Amino acid sequence: MSKKRYLVTSALLYANGPVHIGHVAGAYLPADIYSRYLNGNGHDVAFISGSDEHGAAITLQAKKEGVLPNEIIDKYHNLNKQSFKELGINFSIYHRTSEELHHKTAQEVFTELDKKKVFTKKESKQFYDKEHKQFLADRYITGECPKCFALNAYGDQCEKCGSTLSPDELINPKSVLSGSKPIKKKTTHWYLPMQKHEKWLKSYIEKGELNHKKHHDVRAWKSQVIGQCKSWLDSGLQERAMTRDLDWGVEVPVEKADNKVLYVWLDAPIGYISATKQWAIENNKNWEDFWRDENTELIHFIGKDNIVFHCIIFPIILKSHGDFILPKNVPANSFLNLEGEKLSTSRNWAIWLHKYLKDFKGHEDALRYVLCAMAPENKDADFTWAEFQAKNNNELVSIYGNFINRVIVLINKYWEGKIPTQNQLDSYDKDVLKKIDFIEEKISNSIEKFKFRDSLSELINLARIGNKYLADKEPWKLKSTDERATQTIMNIAAQIAGSLAILSEPFLPFSSQKLKEMMNITHLSWQNNSATIFVEGHQINKASHLFNKIEDEKIKEQIEKLSA
Ligand SMILES: [Zn+2]
Repeated sequence: MSKKRYLVTSALLYANGPVHIGHVAGAYLPADIYSRYLNGNGHDVAFISGSDEHGAAITLQAKKEGVLPNEIIDKYHNLNKQSFKELGINFSIYHRTSEELHHKTAQEVFTELDKKKVFTKKESKQFYDKEHKQFLADRYITGECPKCFALNAYGDQCEKCGSTLSPDELINPKSVLSGSKPIKKKTTHWYLPMQKHEKWLKSYIEKGELNHKKHHDVRAWKSQVIGQCKSWLDSGLQERAMTRDLDWGVEVPVEKADNKVLYVWLDAPIGYISATKQWAIENNKNWEDFWRDENTELIHFIGKDNIVFHCIIFPIILKSHGDFILPKNVPANSFLNLEGEKLSTSRNWAIWLHKYLKDFKGHEDALRYVLCAMAPENKDADFTWAEFQAKNNNELVSIYGNFINRVIVLINKYWEGKIPTQNQLDSYDKDVLKKIDFIEEKISNSIEKFKFRDSLSELINLARIGNKYLADKEPWKLKSTDERATQTIMNIAAQIAGSLAILSEPFLPFSSQKLKEMMNITHLSWQNNSATIFVEGHQINKASHLFNKIEDEKIKEQIEKLSA
């Protein structure tokens, strides 16, 4: 595999609440698996994310908690950064949009676009709360959703059906501040006339072409991502305001634009650029290699509610600016439900990551495993505690853990932890050895196609093959009568165990590390995988449990917490 440069981003997480498993399954875990896999293959990878700390949802949350917006973003930025770290999400940097460097970067991008006349400046009438003497950002207006008729849709989005809205579409709009019906008042804003970009966006999305040249393979994009973009493009793009009347955010860098900030959806994706800059400063890298070199693969991992921003609006910004590359793929995931219902922050119907990490210490990989196995890759998926327990106990413990334990215990018992010789091979032995390379290839292919569920099921397949091999060969029965055959069987079993340690790293980094330590191969990464990981006489260590069973009681507790 030739070495390439990758810029992998996970959606900036909104810093008005804790991260939950829906976020993890949607945009963070798949990006982490992908980045770890690329790193293991020696590519040059920057894995970027951070907190999105602007917008009216932050000021609203601050109001709700009776604190300053700063306190909200500090609280949730730190909490989420720590939670991701404990789950092994291995960002190159987890930055924040409140940083000075980000404000500067976002303002520079705005100024350049303004200079290039990408925006149109226009006076319009916006919702205004007379009692509070304040223009109302989209989030400060609620009303009935015109699509699903949910009662508490926001001016920018309905959380019930996921539709992107504008405040004018709401039925019976109300100000969140005073509860009264807002009036319309004149104000000036900068608009992005998206309709001017339809033509090139169509060939970018539908043909994978940019500036009349091949840019990416459209067949590698998820059909639902292309489908959503096409429906936007087919129904005709419109202009959209890129500034807001709000006192929290990146100030519009134009004189007399008092109390105006950049629209959070203009500012947030630029956060990927400022985060890359900060990471480059800290790691002696050149950020421009990652944003300006056409050979860099820019991949955005997001949830399906962000498709329009990453496939249409941000590309318009990047291309209009002129100095930046565009995404090669945007493998957006659908939503993860919980016990058959939509996750909801307001109804507390969620599994918060920081709480899981506290309640299930030592089971970090179990959550990674289950969220990857049931990831909402092409359609919404459902997380249930029962399935979580079953997958942990029946797959990680019974198949993977059991196989590893047998291998390490037997090699220690028979040969004091030294890998035995590989003697004469029969056709079964040869077949099993071939599977090591074969499965690695299958996992790689799936990861490169963003099919993480398939790749994980191939990984557990390798453990299954190992388990079955030992059960069929029964080396513990042969030991006293056929030492040479026993040696061969256990050498092959060890090669499978070593391969599992290596190939598990992107998915189950903690267990991979533990297993590598047990097998004394901590220096090996993905590119070292083969059917001949161990030479005869290689010393391994003692066995310890790789995975632990999760008892019924523990699951019952969680289900009770949910309905509480
Ligand atoms: Zn709705």
